[in-house]
Amino acid sequence: MENSDSIRLAIFLSVLIICAVWEWCAPRKSRTRSRWLRWTNNLGLVGFNSLTLALVMPLLAIESAIIAAENNIGLFHWLELPLWLTIPISVVFLDAAIYFQHLVFHRVPLLWRLHRMHHADRDIDVTTGARFHPIEIVLSMWIKVAIVMLLGALLSEFWYLRSY
Ligand SMILES: [Zn+2]
Repeated sequence: MENSDSIRLAIFLSVLIICAVWEWCAPRKSRTRSRWLRWTNNLGLVGFNSLTLALVMPLLAIESAIIAAENNIGLFHWLELPLWLTIPISVVFLDAAIYFQHLVFHRVPLLWRLHRMHHADRDIDVTTGARFHPIEIVLSMWIKVAIVMLLGALLSEFWYLRSY
């Protein structure tokens, strides 16, 4: 798991840095608040949310993929679909699930109270995409765990990536 955590962190930081440099070089709007204040708040929240997940969740999406594979759980394990098919299906299903989760968080008043934190950012930049209430992060991880278990997704992709 430490290796997958490192890979996840490296991908997150790489995308964050690429987008931050792009925004720095070609801003679409002027900021109303200092970048330092916003980034400290938003990235501090990312750290807090990561700690919350580590403390509250018994497993994350990657662990659920391993459990699904070890116990032959999930559609892909039952159907024995090829990797070239499971990767795009996994991406589409997980993206669609998070899209519908987003819709539900907008429509259900109690969930909107959590989600509006994401939309309350006065300026929008790369860190806004990571600005979520800790309870929303935990609920979202449960949804991802459920989808991964349902599909039996990602472990074959994870092993595929590890072989290189
Ligand atoms: Zn939203």
